[in-house]
Amino acid sequence: MANVTATIITIGDELLIGQTIDTNSAWMAQRLNEIGIVVERRVTIADKADDIRLALDEEIPRADIILMTGGLGPTADDITKPFLCEYFGGKLVLNEKVLEHVKTLFERRNKPFLERNRMQADVPDVCIVLYNEMGTAPGMLFEKDGKYIISMPGVPFEMMSIMTKEVIPRLQSKYVSDAVLHRTIITSGEGESFIAETLEDIEEALPMGIKLAYLPSPGIVKLRLTATGGDETQLSKELEKYQQQIADRLSDIVVVMNDIPIQELLGNALREQGKRMALAESCSGGYIAHLITQVQGSSDYFQGAIVPYQSKLKNKIVGVDADMLKEHSAISEEVAIELATKSLAMFNSDYCLSVTGQLSHGGEDAHIQKGLVWMAVADKDRVKTKKYLFHYGRELNKELTAQIGMLMLWKFITGRI
Ligand code: AMP
Ligand code: MG
Repeated sequence: MANVTATIITIGDELLIGQTIDTNSAWMAQRLNEIGIVVERRVTIADKADDIRLALDEEIPRADIILMTGGLGPTADDITKPFLCEYFGGKLVLNEKVLEHVKTLFERRNKPFLERNRMQADVPDVCIVLYNEMGTAPGMLFEKDGKYIISMPGVPFEMMSIMTKEVIPRLQSKYVSDAVLHRTIITSGEGESFIAETLEDIEEALPMGIKLAYLPSPGIVKLRLTATGGDETQLSKELEKYQQQIADRLSDIVVVMNDIPIQELLGNALREQGKRMALAESCSGGYIAHLITQVQGSSDYFQGAIVPYQSKLKNKIVGVDADMLKEHSAISEEVAIELATKSLAMFNSDYCLSVTGQLSHGGEDAHIQKGLVWMAVADKDRVKTKKYLFHYGRELNKELTAQIGMLMLWKFITGRI
């Protein structure tokens, strides 16, 4: 079967000048990719009727599906709805169900209901209304020449809700006959090119319907196998065979054969052992605690974190020896060990991870090399340390510290180090 293709059009002056980053396109493209729809173009345009017309005139003949976001709000610059209504030859009519929903939202928020809010319940009589549980502007689905043209609000969480509940199921039933399956392997410790080299012969021998993608992110490289075909059970068996073959080849660096974030992997390991953990975070400023508490139920195993950012507090609160801090500086193996073992005792925990580093220049450790991070993991019998030198900016260095730190603790807990 020929590929079903899609174009994504994002509308908004703020996107063009870079004030808002177009995250909608990436998210929508990922969702389409998951169900085997091929995104061939992504276009960003201004809130101008002529530009929307031009984009639609160009894209409708080319793609099977057009997804659009933006310009559906209640303010004067939001012209997408009246424009689409005219473009598809309809007129705006009040939709009672949407009106009820918008009124309820305003009541719940205790805000006065204005005429411009009532207008949000007007919808073209030539579209299928896609209800927006999370906001006031409904999405709209038009059909032209057997193709779907779908318009959604720009607010990311509203778009996501409409996509998940209204759009994806409709696209699946209209366009998707083949099953699309994915299997993931998360690796850590080697880069993409090394992995690609190691897997060269396996990758070359993959059958037509199976593809391998390399998805690097800070601290890890995800390998994702995707298969498309008619028989789901057969496909799943075949995918798992290749997944295993790849995992066997990469055995040293395989972390998990499942697409889950590292904080969840860590949480699962702790839960399995019925153990608890604590954190002593200096350079990451509480970010690791944030990631860990993103996982539902993390209070089962996560006790808490201490963030002794300044040297003085490392001494005063955690009890790191003042002379040691002076002699070795706060960013040293000795201090990382003290932070981990003393916090372990303070939290009366089973495991503790500490991180201390210099993410960029400046501050009280300005003399220390930029990107230097020391980490330590401890339980009551053992301590392991590791030194890293990260070469990126502050934000990415912090992300790397968090991901690699959590992986280090996971390796410690599961007996890999
Ligand atoms: P709109 O539907 O155009 O009124 O957009 C509402 C909000 O969503 C604004 O704060 C936009 O900056 C934001 N937004 C619009 N389009 C996008 C996009 N493609 N990616 C991320 N945010 C967006
Ligand atoms: Mg806008």
